[in-house]
Amino acid sequence: MTHALHYGTGVFEGIRGNWNEEQGVVNIFRLREHYERLLRGARLLMLNIPYSAEELCDITVELVERNEHSQDIYIRPLVYKSAEMVANLKLQDLESDFTLITVPFGNYLGSDLLRCCTSSWRRVDDPMIPARLKICGIYVNSILAKTEATLAGFDEAIILNHDGHVCEGSGENLFVVSDGRLITPSLEDNVLPGITRDTVIQLAQSELGLDVLERSIDRSELYLADEVFLTGTAAHLTPVVELDHRPIGDGNAGPVSSKLQKMYFDIVVGRTEKYRHWCTPASPR
Ligand code: PMP
Repeated sequence: MTHALHYGTGVFEGIRGNWNEEQGVVNIFRLREHYERLLRGARLLMLNIPYSAEELCDITVELVERNEHSQDIYIRPLVYKSAEMVANLKLQDLESDFTLITVPFGNYLGSDLLRCCTSSWRRVDDPMIPARLKICGIYVNSILAKTEATLAGFDEAIILNHDGHVCEGSGENLFVVSDGRLITPSLEDNVLPGITRDTVIQLAQSELGLDVLERSIDRSELYLADEVFLTGTAAHLTPVVELDHRPIGDGNAGPVSSKLQKMYFDIVVGRTEKYRHWCTPASPR
């Protein structure tokens, strides 16, 4: 009877912990930002969660430590309408609960160089269900797109907005490299405000000195781009080398994608002193 199972009334997060052999710790990447996003979603769905972002971070570190992980892990918090009540669509009537799991996790996309298709499914628009939050039910949209793409033999779907502009992958934000500039759909384009997206924007600007534009992207710009890549907690930073059977650039990982990818990997495992503040260490007991 759990409400969230019937109606998708929950919000969740996807967080990665990266095992660092030398340090003997799992480094959890940008933990606090994930919980801030979770709490924003909880507010919209009237989910009562009796913990602050700070407390959620502490609970998470404790769970990772108690589970004694010494490998890469995925961390999945879920706040959901737990009321055992059907035929009630009033959020204000329904009590909430919270669960947290940590599981070993490796490569998500199954390929280092992605072959993608443009999905026939369109992204939900903000006045339908706000895509800026990780709402459980909204993932049916992503799942339809991902299923269609993979059954057709592609690695991932590129989803367009209701107006035909480029939105994102099923679980990743999208970037285009064109004429030495980095372009990504703006937050008003129904994208999830990705934490990896934010990380890559900061690195591109401050480490590579690139101009980063957040603006609507036409579908045709993807076919003509020098490079395209996807970013996400699960997906890391992964180049798209083919879209709808057309090669992107020369059909290989491009130089900007490769540089950013290397920087990102070093940072998430806690090897880069300058960005160590983005990592929360958890030591297996
Ligand atoms: N878009 C969607 C639809 C997603 O599910 C995700 C994964 N959370 C992302 C983008 C990337 O977000 P993040 O970098 O915060 O994982």
